[in-house]
Amino acid sequence: MQVKNVCPPPTFAAGDKRDGFHILRVEQIPEIRVTAYEIEHERTGAKILHLHCDDRENLFSIGFRTPPRDSTGVPHILEHSVLAGSERYPLKDVFNELVRGTLQTFINAFTYPDKTIYPVASQEKRDFFNLARVYADLVLRPRLMRETFLQEGHHLEFAENGDLTISGIVYNEMKGAYSSPEALMYKAIQENLYPGTPYACDSGGDPERIPDLTYEAFRKFHRTFYSPTNARFFLSGNIPTEEHLVFLAEILAGFDRVALDSSIPILPRWKDPRAIHGFFPIDREEKPEGKTTVNMAWMTAENTAGGTAMMLTIVADLLVGSAASPLRKALIDSGLGEDLSPVTGLERDLRQIAFAVGLRGTDPDKAPRIEALILDSLRDVAENGFDRELIEGTLHQVEFHGREMVRGNYPYGIVLMGRAYHTWLYDGDPLTDMNFPRIIRDIRQEWEKKPDLFQRVVRQWFLDNPHRLLSVMEPSRTFLEEREQKARERMARVAASLDEEEKEQIRQETLLLKRFQTEPDPPEAAATLPKLKIDDISREIETIPTERTAAGGVPLLRHDLFTNGIAYLDLAFDVSDIPDELQPYLPLLGKLTTQMGAAGFSYEAMAKRISLRTGGLGFNLVAGATADGSGNWQKMVFSVKALHRNTDEAVGIIRDILTEGDLNDDARVRELILEKKNGLHAAVIPSGHIFAQMAAAATLSLPAWRTEQWHGRTQLRLIAGTADHLNDLREEIREKLARLRRIVFVRNRLLINMTADPVGLQSLTAAADGLVAALPAGNPPTNTEMQNRRPVHIGIAIPAQICYVAKVLAAPPYADPLSAPLFVLARQLSNGYLYRHIRVQGGAYGGSCRYEPSSGLFAFLSYRDPHLIETLDIYRHAVDSVCNTPVPQEELEKAVIGTIGALDKPLDPAGRGYTALIREFSGMTDPMRHRFREEVLTITTKRLQDAARLYFPAAAEAAVVAVCAPEERLHAANELLEEKLEIEKLS
Ligand SMILES: [Zn+2]
Repeated sequence: MQVKNVCPPPTFAAGDKRDGFHILRVEQIPEIRVTAYEIEHERTGAKILHLHCDDRENLFSIGFRTPPRDSTGVPHILEHSVLAGSERYPLKDVFNELVRGTLQTFINAFTYPDKTIYPVASQEKRDFFNLARVYADLVLRPRLMRETFLQEGHHLEFAENGDLTISGIVYNEMKGAYSSPEALMYKAIQENLYPGTPYACDSGGDPERIPDLTYEAFRKFHRTFYSPTNARFFLSGNIPTEEHLVFLAEILAGFDRVALDSSIPILPRWKDPRAIHGFFPIDREEKPEGKTTVNMAWMTAENTAGGTAMMLTIVADLLVGSAASPLRKALIDSGLGEDLSPVTGLERDLRQIAFAVGLRGTDPDKAPRIEALILDSLRDVAENGFDRELIEGTLHQVEFHGREMVRGNYPYGIVLMGRAYHTWLYDGDPLTDMNFPRIIRDIRQEWEKKPDLFQRVVRQWFLDNPHRLLSVMEPSRTFLEEREQKARERMARVAASLDEEEKEQIRQETLLLKRFQTEPDPPEAAATLPKLKIDDISREIETIPTERTAAGGVPLLRHDLFTNGIAYLDLAFDVSDIPDELQPYLPLLGKLTTQMGAAGFSYEAMAKRISLRTGGLGFNLVAGATADGSGNWQKMVFSVKALHRNTDEAVGIIRDILTEGDLNDDARVRELILEKKNGLHAAVIPSGHIFAQMAAAATLSLPAWRTEQWHGRTQLRLIAGTADHLNDLREEIREKLARLRRIVFVRNRLLINMTADPVGLQSLTAAADGLVAALPAGNPPTNTEMQNRRPVHIGIAIPAQICYVAKVLAAPPYADPLSAPLFVLARQLSNGYLYRHIRVQGGAYGGSCRYEPSSGLFAFLSYRDPHLIETLDIYRHAVDSVCNTPVPQEELEKAVIGTIGALDKPLDPAGRGYTALIREFSGMTDPMRHRFREEVLTITTKRLQDAARLYFPAAAEAAVVAVCAPEERLHAANELLEEKLEIEKLS
């Protein structure tokens, strides 16, 4: 395809000097519509990369190389602490003020193994520069008060029973991470593949080492690494480079070049492979058999080694990226384990790239056979080569994803930033990985000249590379107990060593910390932050172009949007009247439909077709209440995306899987069920709050009940039970799925949704007729009512060291007069009362609440929480606080601005099309959205308090609680709780 030059015209040339900056390089990349500037600040040596493009969401980020020398977590604790405040902005928690009171579309900070990055984004220029100015000052000139260190890092305190305990936000966050099998596996591989380097340390912090960090070492780490000389500024968006330079000159004023060494050493290659053995926690009553994970990992090329990194990316994809990949297939088909290890693939956020692959759900004694199998498969592809279609499909995938503008939870600029850092951090060319289409073109040309190109990579970086590690991670029923025991002993030793004076000092420090945490900031400190006024905010809503028409008698929505040459298609089938007992099988139907064979193609052949002709094919189950509260909707949505030239083929693929899907390949069905079981299981600990919310909400509304059936513990149990008795259940499942398919995949339940530019819409529409004609007419859905279910308070026992506490209330629909105030209240409570009490004072990683009108819920949630009963008390007091005390005017303004920021969160083209589809189901019209915005913008303190009083007392009466926590915590809680939790095992 011919690419028009759509890059912004360059405003500087290489060699130009301006405002103390030296323009090193200017380059246009038409494929991603970017003009790139590489710049250096002459006085400090600060490095700057600006990707100028026409995106109005501008991104600013500062990154530093921060290689750790121990596992005290100092980079991570600093990452939390610098954002607390600076001399210029002397508040206790500036970060939280920015989160709540600006139009930020993204604000965060990330600790990596060797770098720390602070990104912030906004769509409003004034807001953007406000945010960037404050962020830069916090990072470069933080106060780093002792109280902040104690709160974010660690501190000792005496519990009510007199026991000495340790607390801290990062400390609890990392206790959560060290309960996650996946995190422990990843950590074991990284630390042992790079011994003697910063990667052998945990930059996030090992809970056993965090208490060793001193306040002095913490401050010293900042002095050493957080200087402009060690900084990389990444900017993207439509603000001209010139304006950025004026701004950067201002924030860099007063700094000089400093001498420092933040380089990351190159590890010499081993002469011989190594092996390690480690453990991760499972529940005390769980069987350890068949739960081991075996991985092999290699240290490969340097990130900066020209095209090698991209070649490794492609080869990794060829080996394990799709269902047709030979290494993945060999592992799965071997029957030595259940599914691929979660630590599989290429890791580029390290100076020397790592590749790992393995099997989950196996046993330690099978490790030698797994190792031999992996090496044999690699030998086989090195000798006989990869399937040509597989290579074409993989190249197509890389090209597709290089072109697609994606904005999920992150701005698109974050994706580009990640690519830049892979090389830039190690003093390589930051633009190496930007231009995917061009890279793919070059690789394709080389492949034509050297047909064994990819085989050579396998030989050089895997077979002939002795720097590899065999990692066997075994489940342990005593892992957490042993850690707890060690922590208790450590505390007992510390306690025994304290004299009276030292004990008094701890008590004093606890008081000091509590006072610091509860005292409000002085008004003059709060006044230092630049603020938008509510009057500055646009009263207009952003709308999504939607044309309502029909294709072959089926309703069709078309959204004409710029999509960079990609066409998006959604097929939504109504599943609202599927009998209750069959509903939990819908996720399995979706998975098998999209991942089995069809129309005479085996699943491998189908996988190749999908990767060659589409950018991805998936499904989703969604349910919601209508905006006016009069009803519910439940849909199964299949989505496919393709380059314009492939739309016919892509629609053909989706037609084949819907009308001629093959449910008979038993081995494949087994694989997919095991994969699903392990995936669901692995998701519980990292998102225990969501799991708890689903469990609590299930009896409150029909959409919430469906969500629990499809994604919650009901689903986990069904799949785990099925996996355990697959031989007996095979026929029954096949029969159920076939029945569901006959009911669901029919014309009379279908609505089609298309998102593309006019060319894409035209070709999709042309292809849709054939698709519709191929579907049987079927029956339209009939009306169904929700059965009444008794609300139960639930305690779900999980193997972890922390709790997730959810309390859920029934809430009114979107069009209700209470909805705007509730939306604002949820934000105000999250960033105010709950944040202060659960995170700041309680030491949990997070505490928040949310109002979800589409599921008819208002939920209170805590995340990686050391408390349980206390958290439930806080939820109650939070409600009392908004009912009894009016929200101060200043707070209200922040909440309103933050709410608007959340409503205006930008969407990528596919996201806009999909959102319009969901609004269609909900009957959420633009006039309703306009009214909602208007109500938010004009809300008053009184209105908020009236709404709280009207809603909370009655709703809270019927609230349901669900907690994911270690079993003994649940039993202990029941001793104290008036309304007992019904305690159950996870599965
Ligand atoms: Zn953190």
